[in-house]
Amino acid sequence: MVAIFLSRAAPKKSAMKQSHLFTKTRKEAPTDEVAQNAKLLIRAGYIHKEMAGVYAYLPLGLRVQNKIKQIVREEMDAIGGQELIMTALQSKELWEKTKRWSDEVVDVWFKTNLKTGGEVGLGWSHEEPIAEMMKGYISSFRDLPIFVYQFQTKLRNEVRAKSGILRGREFVMKDMYSFCLDEADHTAFYNRTIDAYMRVYHRLGIGEDTFVTFAAGGAFTKFSHEFQTIAETGEDVIYIHRAKKIAVNKEVLNDETLKNLGVSRSELEEVKTAEVGNIFNFGTQKSEDLGLSYKNEKGEAIPVWMGSYGIGITRVMGLLAEKFSDEKGIVWPESVAPFRVHLVSIVGANGEAVKKEAEKLYQTLTDKGIEVLYDDRDLRPGEKFADSDLIGIPTRVVISEKTMKEGKLEIKDRKTGTVSMLSESDLFKLL
Ligand code: ATP
Ligand code: MG
Repeated sequence: MVAIFLSRAAPKKSAMKQSHLFTKTRKEAPTDEVAQNAKLLIRAGYIHKEMAGVYAYLPLGLRVQNKIKQIVREEMDAIGGQELIMTALQSKELWEKTKRWSDEVVDVWFKTNLKTGGEVGLGWSHEEPIAEMMKGYISSFRDLPIFVYQFQTKLRNEVRAKSGILRGREFVMKDMYSFCLDEADHTAFYNRTIDAYMRVYHRLGIGEDTFVTFAAGGAFTKFSHEFQTIAETGEDVIYIHRAKKIAVNKEVLNDETLKNLGVSRSELEEVKTAEVGNIFNFGTQKSEDLGLSYKNEKGEAIPVWMGSYGIGITRVMGLLAEKFSDEKGIVWPESVAPFRVHLVSIVGANGEAVKKEAEKLYQTLTDKGIEVLYDDRDLRPGEKFADSDLIGIPTRVVISEKTMKEGKLEIKDRKTGTVSMLSESDLFKLL
């Protein structure tokens, strides 16, 4: 029995044979798809289009999504965040309390009816439910501060869903909420979050192109902060000062803002961007509306100071696919690539030796915990290389009769296109 179990043990998560991967690459994206990110991701087999603005994440795509989440998770945990997950179905009565159930106020609601009567909303945001829930956990000043976050599928009835996964009707967001004693505590956490967000974007490879941007919104302060990344196909326009790392959204670009920031309009450059994150100071407005308060040392009831902090996980994935791509396909940054190595065997007439050698290297990589996708399929070299370029794994390792004769491996760096012949030990040094 034991032997049978062992032989059937699931392959390690870090390794996969391409012959086992059910997805295939495609020459053409669906004709109704206009967004570059979705075209690339569909062709390479990362996502499946269910309908406009609604995409499924296939094995390769899920690996990328999980890597992005993990980076975000580590940085949120590092500033004291506690992960939870709220519900997708939400109470109408709750949103009525803050006057946000109405479609005139919130224009992205999906709503549905219960068979037993009554309406529920499909979560487009979780500010209200999470604040309401916290009433059960916050009573004294000793309970604060609290920082909670989740990765949640948000449902929004977006009017335009033509940007692929940059704007989904169903998409994954990381949303965090802070519950603080007062403005000073809130501000300290808010500023720590800005730093944590920038660490996230740097780890994702877009730190240099991402600007903390003054934008409208925020109950008590005039501003909210958006995190905007320069992108050809971005839907937003912002004004930046590259050297001073100052950025202002069009909506708040006025004399007063410019004066406060100490820059003049002529110093600013107009750029197209995608909003990859957004953070808000709610003040005590929402707490007052919902009756979320704590007792201070004197026993007085004080409304909790709240903030909210979002990152568009799937939007970031689409942005990376678009930003890091060339005419051949995607060029993933190492930190989010589905695998570290794409091992490709080129099997000619006397293929057995090559197969054996490739199999051996696959095993060694797996044992070392290096994530590897092994293209073990019986296809022409040209097809395998084109697929490899399209999928976009950082390092391609080719084993063929030619490389075996030389006693080396052919290594191609997807980003630079550089090809080199390395020994196995040099490959491991490189990795
Ligand atoms: P936008 O102005 O782009 O509609 P928003 O202001 O509605 O964004 P928030 O509600 O603050 O966005 O959501 C937090 C983050 O979630 C955004 O910064 C963005 O990265 C992401 N996001 C928002 N809407 C979508 C969507 N429809 N599809 C994918 N990601 C989204
Ligand atoms: Mg929106």
